[in-house]
Parts: sequence; C-alpha cells; structure tokens
Amino acid sequence: MLDLAFEEPVATRLSGVTGDWEMVIGLEVHAQVRSQAKLFSGGANDFGAEPNSNVALVDAAMPGMLPVINEYCVAQAVRTGLGLKAEINLRSVFDRKNYFYPDLPQGYQISQFKYPIVGEGEVLVNLEPGVARRVRIERIHLEQDAGKSIHDMDPESSFVDLNRTGVALMEIVSRPDIRGPEEAAEYVRKLRQIMRYLGTCDGEMQEGSLRADVNVSVCRPGDYEKFVETGDFGVLGTRCEIKNMNSMRFMQQAINYEARRQIDIIEDGGVIDQETRLFDPVKGETRTMRSKEEAHDYRYFPCPDLLPLEIEQGWIDDIAASLPELPDEKRVRFMRDYGVTEYDAAVLSAAQNDAVFFEQVAKGRDGKTSANWVVNELFGRLNKAGLTVEDSPVSAAQLGGVIDLIASNAISGKIAKELFEIVWSEGGDPAEIVEARGMKQVTDTGAIEAAVDEVMASSPEKVAQAKEKPALAGWFVGQVMKATGGKANPQAVQEIVKAKLGV
Ligand code: ADP
Ligand code: MG
Repeated sequence: MLDLAFEEPVATRLSGVTGDWEMVIGLEVHAQVRSQAKLFSGGANDFGAEPNSNVALVDAAMPGMLPVINEYCVAQAVRTGLGLKAEINLRSVFDRKNYFYPDLPQGYQISQFKYPIVGEGEVLVNLEPGVARRVRIERIHLEQDAGKSIHDMDPESSFVDLNRTGVALMEIVSRPDIRGPEEAAEYVRKLRQIMRYLGTCDGEMQEGSLRADVNVSVCRPGDYEKFVETGDFGVLGTRCEIKNMNSMRFMQQAINYEARRQIDIIEDGGVIDQETRLFDPVKGETRTMRSKEEAHDYRYFPCPDLLPLEIEQGWIDDIAASLPELPDEKRVRFMRDYGVTEYDAAVLSAAQNDAVFFEQVAKGRDGKTSANWVVNELFGRLNKAGLTVEDSPVSAAQLGGVIDLIASNAISGKIAKELFEIVWSEGGDPAEIVEARGMKQVTDTGAIEAAVDEVMASSPEKVAQAKEKPALAGWFVGQVMKATGGKANPQAVQEIVKAKLGV
C-alpha cells in the first residue's frame, strides 16, 4: 500500500452577508473507453471520421438487430476500476434508460442502473506537495454514448451524426467529497492521468472523450463533517447539476458562479430548486435547463436483449496482474529511489513517457542531478518549443552523456548548458562535441595558475585592494573564468586565487 503522508486541504470558503459558506461538489465523469469497436457492435470507434461512416446496423437500431457485448470494453472498465482501487462486481446488469432524442435511434440508452460493474473506490487528489484529498468513488457503470446532433451548420436544418452512437462510455460517479473549484479540476486531471496510464481512455476533452456533469451545493462550515460522520445527505444543501462540462477552466468558472448564485438565493430567504443547469461560457453564467418537475422519467428496466454480465475472479486477477505502476506509486518510488522532491516526482511522472525518459537518464547516475536536468533544462526547453518528450531532440542517452561529463569534472555546469544547447540544435555525442570543440574544463593547475598570474599582473591595484578586503577575491575568479572561456574549474581557480592573495 501507499505510505504517502499528506495533509487534507481546507475547503473553499465563501463569505455571505449572514456568515461563511462552504462548497460541496460531486462529479459524474463520462469517459469514452479506448477500444477499436463499440460496446455492442462492430462499428468502429474512430473520432473525426466522415459523418455516419462508422454506423453498424445495431447502432442505427435497425429492426431485429441485437446487441452483443464487447469483451474488450468490459475489460477496460474493470481495468479502470482496479486503477481506482475499486471493488469489481462479479455480476452486473444492463438496463434500458428510455428517452427520445434524434441522435438516439434506439429510443433508449443501454446503461447500468442498480447493478454497476464497478463499486466503491477512491482517487487521491493532489493540490500541492504534501497536501491531498481522498475523493471517494461511488461507482462506475458502462453505457452507450449517444450520437451527435449538429445545430449550427445550417439555419434551417439540424444534422445527425451517428458515428458516436454506441461507443462505450464509463460513467465515474464520485461522492460529494470535492470541496472547491481547483479540487474539481485536479480531480478530473488525476482521473485522466490514471486512465491514460491504464490506456482505458485517451482523455481528450476537446474531442469529448472526457466530460463531466458537476453537482454543486453550499452548506455552513461543519455541515460537511456531519455528513461524513452520519452519511446523511439531509445535512447538506440542495444541489444543482451543471451538465456536460468539457473544459477545466469553464468547470471552475461554473462552480464559482453556481455557489455564489445559491448563496445569494438562500440569503435572500429563497430555496434552491434541485435542477439541471447549463453553463454559458460567453456570459460566464449557469442557467436552468430543466427543473426537477421536468426531470425525465427514464423508466429503467433490465434490457431483455442482454443477459446479466457475469465475470470470473480469475479474469479480474489477470487484468490486475497486468496493471502498470500508477502515478501515486510511481511518485512515491521516485522520491524514495532517487531522492527527488515530491514536486519533481510529480512532474517526472505526469505521463508515462516522461517517467520512462527520466529513469533512462537516472539509471546509474545521481538521481537529484538527473531530475534537475530533466525537469528544469529538458522539460523547460520542450515546453518552450511546444514539444513533448516523445519528440525531444535530445535523447535520454545524450542528456545522460552531458550529466556524465559534469560528474567526471570534464566540464563545468555553465559549459554543460552550452553543450546542452548544441546537442539540442545540432545533435551528436556530447563527449565528442566537448573534445572536438575544446570545451573541456581546465583542471591542470599549472595552466590555471598561469591565467591567474596574468590577470593579477595586469591589475596590481586590485591585488592590493583584495589583500585588504578578501571578499574582492571573487573578482579575480570571474576574470580568470572569462579569460579561459568558462573552461577553468571554478573550484581550482578560487583556491589558487586565494592562495596567491594570501587570504
Ligand atoms: P443522480 O443520478 O440523480 O444524478 P446521484 O445520487 O447519483 O444522483 O448523484 C449524482 C452526483 O451528485 C454524485 O456525484 C453525488 O456525489 C453528487 N451529490 C449528491 N448530493 C450532493 C450535494 N448535496 N451536493 C453536491 N453534490 C452532490
Ligand atoms: Mg446525474
């Protein structure tokens, strides 16, 4: 298990005219499963394809067509559940959720209602080094995605694209354990990171592969703690649900706006109607989509076309055995094995390829130095160039070569940065570049001594001053470094200067 000590962050407080308020937030995240085929058909799951080109007869709900479960999608949901340390249910049931919409040809969505495939789990949400909150997962169920209605292509007609119809979706439902807008964003980021590690969802929010319904309520300080103790939702405020957020920034704006709106209503003596709302990114506001009275009656019932889904423990165990090391574990291991800070460990494990790169560099080398070069020099440079580690012009072997040259005192830290720039723009073997361009650090004390003598001979008045004021010795070190093009070993220069000044 994870032995990561952390402090719980404080909940976001808002002040009203009648006192302080706190936010309570629960998220329903819809994550598209990474798979080649859809949940119940052989239709391709391929974002960006020509509209209506990936529609199997089942997806179009042609008469007499029957759904057949895609085992790979089930495995992906189990994998996700295991990654969230959740219970996997050996038996789950698919239900029909009935509603009418043009992009839903069946007239119902196949979903899971009472018996989801994944039960309770948790996600650790990191806010800053040493500060994290455990957000409980209530359940994950598998369901079909709907198609897309396009209303803005023509002034008179709407268009329907059924490519997305039937793609497998995981709905990941959190407990209302999120206590502020930043935490909500971090929670989604962490889920995305874990699913990318697992390979179960690509997490592309702009493409709609990851979207969230955000439930927000407000309560008085202390109420949430009562809720955790008793499990009684009655001590919390009435929630509103903001549908279909697919940007972290809008999600945070929506939460802030919504909490303030609710506080104003309550403080004016009103009550909050439990309703579904939409966020308007132009106005920065949420507005009513439908109230509780207008809420759909989905008339859920078990889908008669599908048997209950029964899976075997052995199959789950096999999936569990194939899980990669996950971000939290990797972070802790990097701190332990390489002695890096939690911050650096988090940066180095943000994505799997970053971590692989770092470990290739750090292998057989000093962990902290390696982390420093990867995080500050390489990632900094990649960021500036808008590149990821996969297209880094400097390979792990090349960066390791630069670090080796510093470690063996062949080059100084300053020259190493110049060398890094050369490798970045021209490529090549660092050791050969240093040799060919005469960048080697001068450690030969005779040569350094000669350079020191020369500088001292040309500035006798400075020598006299420095003998009185030893702090001025630094000036000579700087001059010698300059004279040698930065190649003299600074340590050696300092020692020789001091000896010659007798300070
Ligand atoms: P539904 O299926 O009707 O949307 P759920 O009970 O499944 O309702 O809850 C949906 C989400 O709302 C969950 O993520 C849950 O944590 C969250 N939630 C429930 N009560 C509150 C509340 N008082 N404040 C904020 N979020 C809440
Ligand atoms: Mg809901």
